[in-house]
Amino acid sequence: MEPRYKRIVLKLSGEAMAGEKGIGIDSSTVRLFAREIKRISEAGVETCIVVGGGNFWRGRDSKDMDRATSDYMGMLGTVMNALALQDALEQMDVVTRVMTAIEMKQVAEPYIRRRAIRHLEKGRVVIFSGGIGNPYFSTDTTAALRAAEIDAEVILLAKKGTDGIYDSDPNINADAVKFDSLSYFDILSKNLKIMDSTATSLCMENDIPLIVFGIDISENIFDAAMGKELGTCVK
Ligand code: UDP
Repeated sequence: MEPRYKRIVLKLSGEAMAGEKGIGIDSSTVRLFAREIKRISEAGVETCIVVGGGNFWRGRDSKDMDRATSDYMGMLGTVMNALALQDALEQMDVVTRVMTAIEMKQVAEPYIRRRAIRHLEKGRVVIFSGGIGNPYFSTDTTAALRAAEIDAEVILLAKKGTDGIYDSDPNINADAVKFDSLSYFDILSKNLKIMDSTATSLCMENDIPLIVFGIDISENIFDAAMGKELGTCVK
């Protein structure tokens, strides 16, 4: 199959890394994702992954902590996910680099934009961790920002427990209707909770298309990267 994109950002939520366990890391699930990422990379698509951290910690969940401290804990959680994904990929002989938005040089490279691009040009899979390195942001915003910075053609937003964007919650409303395509303006005006508004605005302002698709079938990751129509496309 001829890939549709040359360079992509895949956003994997922390929740997805936890598999059925719901928290922590499920190594067999991570291996499934790694297998798809390997196929994408072998198809010649320059691939970066932004990992979330919700399987460990979400800053906003702690009501009695200082928010910034809590957010830093969340960012550290994303680094654990990145290392787990790196390990799974390297066991499959995929060359990877983890980059962190918060310096921890013993663990991984600090994020340097030009260096990330160089890794991609050399065919390495780049995993961005630590969010953008600032509290009060999300890893969805990180995906939008990194996609803009490295000139990715698309963001693939892999979601657990859903296969696209609906007009209402399909788990609550059996008549919920799935959208095939939407505009970023629709997301903001209809208040669809698919990404936070910062991430949505960044994508909108920088004209970065987004594909929201379900990750419960892991092969969807490869198919989405090849340009097969699935989920909801936001432009
Ligand atoms: N976070 C942050 N700044 C960032 C990215 C993430 O402070 O740039 C923190 C925030 O507390 C967030 C947590 O890291 O709740 C985990 O990220 P996120 O909730 O986006 O992960 P996901 O929901 O995708 O698993």
